Amino acid sequence: MDQMEKKEFRAESKRLLDLMINSIYTHKEIFLREIISNASDAVDKLAYLALTDDKVGLSRDEFAIHLTVDEKMKTLTVSDNGIGMSKEEMENNLGTIARSGSYQFKQEMEQKEEVDIIGQFGVGFYSAFMVAEAVTVISRKYGSDEAWMWQSSGADGYTMIACEKDAPGTDVIMKLKADTENETYSDYLKEYTLRSLVRKYSDYIRYPIKMEVTQYRQVPDPDDAEKTISEAYQEEQTLNSMVPLWQKSKSQVTDEEYERFYQDKFFDFEKPAARVVVSAEGAVTYKALLYIPSKAPYDYFTKEYKRGLQLYSSGVMIMEHCEELVPEHFAFVRGVVDSQDLSLNISREMLQHDRQLQLIAQNLEKKIKSELEKLMKNDREGYEKFYSAFGIQLKYGAVTDYGVHKDQLQDLLLFWSAKEKKLISLKEYAEGMGEEQKFIYFAVGDSRSRLQQLPQTEMLLSKGFDVLLFTEDVDEFVAQTLMKYAEHEFRSVSAEDLQTGGEEKQDETSCQPVLDFVKNALGEKVAKVRLSRNLGSHPVFLSPDGGMSFEMAKYFNKLHPEAAIEVPKVLELNAEHKIFVQLQNLMGSNPEKAGKYAELLYSQALLMAGMELEDPTAYTDLVCELIG
Ligand code: ADP
Repeated sequence: MDQMEKKEFRAESKRLLDLMINSIYTHKEIFLREIISNASDAVDKLAYLALTDDKVGLSRDEFAIHLTVDEKMKTLTVSDNGIGMSKEEMENNLGTIARSGSYQFKQEMEQKEEVDIIGQFGVGFYSAFMVAEAVTVISRKYGSDEAWMWQSSGADGYTMIACEKDAPGTDVIMKLKADTENETYSDYLKEYTLRSLVRKYSDYIRYPIKMEVTQYRQVPDPDDAEKTISEAYQEEQTLNSMVPLWQKSKSQVTDEEYERFYQDKFFDFEKPAARVVVSAEGAVTYKALLYIPSKAPYDYFTKEYKRGLQLYSSGVMIMEHCEELVPEHFAFVRGVVDSQDLSLNISREMLQHDRQLQLIAQNLEKKIKSELEKLMKNDREGYEKFYSAFGIQLKYGAVTDYGVHKDQLQDLLLFWSAKEKKLISLKEYAEGMGEEQKFIYFAVGDSRSRLQQLPQTEMLLSKGFDVLLFTEDVDEFVAQTLMKYAEHEFRSVSAEDLQTGGEEKQDETSCQPVLDFVKNALGEKVAKVRLSRNLGSHPVFLSPDGGMSFEMAKYFNKLHPEAAIEVPKVLELNAEHKIFVQLQNLMGSNPEKAGKYAELLYSQALLMAGMELEDPTAYTDLVCELIG
């Protein structure tokens, strides 16, 4: 019986594969980076096991990646002595693309042009098909005696067959495509090309990438003892410098290298908004290379997203996502921390109590914060881009745990200024306040344009006061949690007393009968009817009674519908408005009509507050009746 099984690729993998096979992308060379990076990951895994498992039998300096060229067969082979793959793993990992890099790549591909993205971040194993007409993978999993061979020449499927392999690890054998007029695939068999590709893309790989290279030496000429001739011999050389980027000093690394490292490692095709490079010595010695992305990964706001930094101890990765290293409010930060002061076989539980680690985390938090402040100051556009992705995370950070982080975060927040018509910080707001202004005013609702036109906003603006427009659920909680900024309390524009200074007291006693009449006409619909001095040219407004705003109640009701929170409504009337005077007159002459006016005013107030009318038909009828 032939053991060979022919299998189809899954549909979504097939599409990606097609794209790779028919790629016209000019940087096909990145396939080498992808294959080497997989090899390095596999070696990482076995090197990690070797820390605690003597049976692995390899010491740190025996781990390596080999490149082998067979000119005759036109194959390039990348071999590693890493963890290897079992039969199932080969099928699952190489037969589908439901994996990190390739999966995200496919997602992005849906939206972008091919050319934009290949090469900007990890496209994974399939990129081999950009240069190879057939790919063979031979792998033996550590701990198993079996080895398997996976083979594919493209979209029509792959085969698997049992085979022999001396030691654990993986060989990826790429049979290069034939050269064409436009492409010389045979370049990838040349020592010079391979050497420079490794230097360009994989220099920082922490294991030696070795290759047999041809060297020449002078030997005595057998025909003439007086002379020497040059003789070729083979020598194994390490092509990469093996110094990880974060171990290099800043001056040795270009911006481009830093950016490429980020994009490769964290699968982002955008450049990061900022980076933090730390080299610390003292109480704890460590190196850190952190990045602040400028765009949220597609899974950022889901449970799938794993926060944390990669943790290395003396060059060996001991944890992929070490959460203890970054606080929740900076969950978007990606990066690497490497410290020789940490014990290698440290467990998760031990980490939480590790003093060294806590010191590193505290230090990094400060650095991240100051980097963000620097970005806000020096590259406002860059900061706003970052902020549109992660501002909400910072706001939630400021309100969680009863505001313990508020002092850390308040200066990183931006809100929309009604006066400046742009995002401003609280510091900028406070600096723009005149002597006579006591409060930091804010208006809450779901659209900026509506908030901009609120009578109170208009009134405050006309007095030269700025109003922050809160359009996100969390904004109002931020104001509540901070309570004050630079000694100025926050105050909602719908508060009864805005204390704008210089108001004359209205003669409220003469108005009281009107207020009573309206309250009577509306019954339980409103809790109170009162005068307001903040309405400018508008006749009415609806305010919440008590501390909770309508928006906050809406938010809570979304979370806990069963609570059915209702905020009592206060109808505010503007005694200066001519409709108020009309109402006053009608009350005596035509109380029935005056009652209808009260209804109408109430409906208008609902609309202005962005609420639904209880009965839209009745409202339109009423308008028609009063016009007619
Ligand atoms: P990614 O590396 O983004 O996960 P790839 O398509 O490059 O996606 O690889 C898919 C998976 O195949 C890897 O995650 C890894 O589990 C496995 N793999 C690839 N190359 C090797 C290798 N040399 N050794 C062990 N496993 C490998």
